[in-house]
Parts: sequence; structure tokens; C-alpha cells
Amino acid sequence: MKRKFEILEEDEKTDARVGILRLKSCSVETPVFMPVGTNANVKTMTTRDLEEMGYNLILSNTLHLYLKPGHKMIERFGGLHKFMGWNRGILTDSGGFQVYSFRKIRKLSHDGVFFKSPVDGSEHFLTPELVVEIQESLGSDVAMVLDECPPLESEREYVVKSLKRTTEWAKRCKNLHKKEDQLLFGIVQGGFFEDLRIESAKQITALDFPGYGIGGLSLGEERETTVRMLEASLSQIPKDKPRYLMGVGSPDMILEAVERGIDMFDSVYPTRMGRHGVALTHHGRLNVRSGRYKEDGEPLDPKCDCRVCKTYTKAYINYLFSRKEILGMILLTYHNLYFMSKFMENVRNSIKGNFFGKFKEEFLKSYLSSS
Ligand SMILES: [Zn+2]
Repeated sequence: MKRKFEILEEDEKTDARVGILRLKSCSVETPVFMPVGTNANVKTMTTRDLEEMGYNLILSNTLHLYLKPGHKMIERFGGLHKFMGWNRGILTDSGGFQVYSFRKIRKLSHDGVFFKSPVDGSEHFLTPELVVEIQESLGSDVAMVLDECPPLESEREYVVKSLKRTTEWAKRCKNLHKKEDQLLFGIVQGGFFEDLRIESAKQITALDFPGYGIGGLSLGEERETTVRMLEASLSQIPKDKPRYLMGVGSPDMILEAVERGIDMFDSVYPTRMGRHGVALTHHGRLNVRSGRYKEDGEPLDPKCDCRVCKTYTKAYINYLFSRKEILGMILLTYHNLYFMSKFMENVRNSIKGNFFGKFKEEFLKSYLSSS
């Protein structure tokens, strides 16, 4: 039997690598970016759009689907793939991060986390066991363990306790998880303390998961801190396992992480930007709503060959946004996701061709120049 994850090429000068992740639905080349489909859809995109752009792995949110329409309902439809009309890969998160974001309406205990639904105020108790049960019902290709993400300003004492809890919960998830065609990834936490990052990574990797997420970063800390915490976490994760930096999706940060050996990313960044009128381009972010594009007959990004850039002008999209037309959001989301898909393909090609360093330098020079 072929291994679930295999490294195909390694960059000679850095820790960047190209790998293949073999999932039940399809094989995925890494480094990969996963668009976020919170409520069983990537906002404004059809699954056909995503296929056309070359995506074969997306992320969906366990907690949202548990609240609505309910995992049992999705199971009756034959699982999440059938329910949403997508037959390629799906990774489901564990809900740990969402619960973290409901900070005012949650209560943590040894057994799990109690919270009130932001949708209807109903009360729920999320446990490691329930999180595994939900993800097994959804039938995702990759499931994540329940973890606790300590807030940015947490004291060391709190992070020490939280880290222990995350390890305990990871153990309980692993013990209960039975679905053979679903990979269950562990999650490294440890707040913003290098030694605690190392400690968490040691404890989680000792449980031997087929892949590892690195959580609790990009909460608003300095970029230099993100990189330091990332390096500390990675120092303990075996090289032959897929490594997933959770919730990070800006191209510049992706390059820093790929250089250090990260294989997987997810973020709402390109889709959220698109809905707010911001295009990602080779010259950085472009706010198409700005008055300066009112009569601009050029495409969003002359270097992009997506069907939006081939067909429409900045002036037209600017006009759609000024009229609050839904099509504006659809077109920008499409372009942004296409941009990310191509970007990741170029990252992989640069590693295969042994010029990752040069690619990174040239991309950043143009991307950070901002037109
Ligand atoms: Zn485009």
C-alpha cells in the first residue's frame, strides 16, 4: 500500500518540500492552500468553479455544520461530499478555534467546552468525543482533534495548563477515532512561549498522528513572533509527516512557512477580501472600489489569466461594487482564489525546479511594492 504522505522533492537550500497527500477522495500535491467553506460552501463559489481553478482540497467547519443543519442530517445524505456536491478532498476543523472566537459565551472544563450558539442561543457541550463523532458522520478526508487555543495575551501559567488539556483531548480523540479512510491530525499549541511550543509538539507527536496542525498563531502577534513560534513547533514534528499551519493564508506568510517546511494552509483571507472589494494581485492588494478605477479599462491583474481577468475591466467591477451587485463579489472571489491556486502551483514548481529562494524573492519584491 502506498504511504499516505510522501515527499517528492526537497529544496536544496531551505526546508521547502513538495509532497503528495493521498486521501480517500483524491491525491493532493503539497504545499497546498485550502479555501474555507464554512457552511458547506465556499462563499459565492460553486464546486464547479473550485474544480475549474484546480482545487482538490477545501476546509469546512465542524462546529457550524453541527449547529446547522446537524451532522446526523448530513450523514443521512451520505456525508458532506454528497451533501455539498463536491467529490474531491475535504478537511474539517475541530471547532476548537470557533469556540475560541466565541470567548464571551464559552466555559472550559477538563471534559470539554460549554458554549452558547451564536445562531440561536442554544446551549452545547463540545467534548473531544463529540468532535470525533461529528467529523466521522461528516465523512471528511482529514479530521482534526479538539484543541484549546489560548488567547494572545495569556499568561504563561495559563498556557501551561491549556497545553496539558490540549494533549489530554488529543489522546481522547485518538482513542475514539475509528474511521479508517479518514486521517486524524493532532494539533500543536503552546501560546507564544518557545519552550511551551516545543513541549506541546513533543507531547502531541508522541501520540503518533498521521499529520500535524500548528494552531494558535496569527492571532494579531508580530510577524517575527509567528515565525519564531512556527520554528519552535516544527523543530519537534517528524519530517515525513504533513504539517499544516492553521488559519494562515497571506501569500507573504505562506512563503515564510513553506521555506520552513509547512505543507498545508487555510484561510478566509482571499474569499473575505474578495467580498470586500479587494483583489490580490502580483503587485499586492488592490481596492477595486477606489474612485481611481472608475474608468480603468485594464483587468484586475494583467499577469492573471483567469476568466475574470480575461473578460472584465476594473471599471466594470468597480461599478458592480458601487451598485452593490452580487456579481462583483463573485468575480473578485473567483479571481482571488484563482490567484492563490496559481500562486501555490508556482511555489511547487519553484521547489521542483530548485529555485524556490529566487521565486520567493522576486514574488515578494513585486507583491510588497504595492501599486
Ligand atoms: Zn484574475
